[in-house]
Amino acid sequence: MKLPKLGWVRLRITRPLGGKVKNATVSRDGEHWYVSFLVEDALPPPERHADPGSAVGIDLGVVKVVTRSDGRFHHQVFARDREVEHAKKLQRDFARTTKRSARRKKAAARVAGMARRVRRRREDFAAKTAHILATGFELVVFEALKTRNMTAGAEPRPDPERPGAFLPNGAAAKAGLNRSILDKGWYRIEVATRSRARYTGTHVITVNPAYTSQTCDVCKVVDRKSRESQAVFRCTSCGHTAHADVNAAKNILTAGRAEFAQPRPGVRAGARKPRNRVGRKANRQATAAQTTATAASRLAEIPRL
Ligand SMILES: [Zn+2]
Repeated sequence: MKLPKLGWVRLRITRPLGGKVKNATVSRDGEHWYVSFLVEDALPPPERHADPGSAVGIDLGVVKVVTRSDGRFHHQVFARDREVEHAKKLQRDFARTTKRSARRKKAAARVAGMARRVRRRREDFAAKTAHILATGFELVVFEALKTRNMTAGAEPRPDPERPGAFLPNGAAAKAGLNRSILDKGWYRIEVATRSRARYTGTHVITVNPAYTSQTCDVCKVVDRKSRESQAVFRCTSCGHTAHADVNAAKNILTAGRAEFAQPRPGVRAGARKPRNRVGRKANRQATAAQTTATAASRLAEIPRL
């Protein structure tokens, strides 16, 4: 193809364009260059989803990336433990190099290469999961994400010699690692599902995730203590026992169905407000914890990879 300023360049077409080209975007990722074409496929969105009335709630997590309200999971490890260790080592190597040196440039390329490999796996997983969700369900309900709070920052380390001063706590390195290697790509899954949804007639909505992990899907009582452990939900009121994330996904689906049935502009239908004192207290604690996490992540300096 012919590019402005560059002239003719060779390119490999990786998939049929399938439509009239509207524009093209040239991008670079490390040493690789890409051209993406925006095409007009003229495919009308379907009138109705192939499986009318089907709906699923999605709980996004770490132990399992995607937990569905029907009890199924979509999971992939994007970076194995060995790779995470290797990424940390590469980052340390990079930190030891001197500014503007040739070795620094090489070290930076190695860090970026590692991050790119992990990112590709994440993108691939998001696309496949999005395809399955959009094909399978007319309504897909995600929890609204507060991405800033998602991964806890490094703990501040006060300097015992000088009150009010802080020692380096590895926040910069951890922030970089969190973003490039440890990230689960939750938001990307939602975005990919929205873009697939155009072809399947799927509706994608998000709901406020407050209390979804503390609410019993059966009797609807909110109690923080019902979340017995990371994996187990056991209702303190009715005794209903379930996989904790599946229970949360069911609550997300319930909230989503309510929202979808009666969309109220400007109001997000979340899970129920707690009915009892325990729930309110738990909520206050959760809010306090979240505020701390936000402050910590704001402190973390984000390095350029
Ligand atoms: Zn219950």
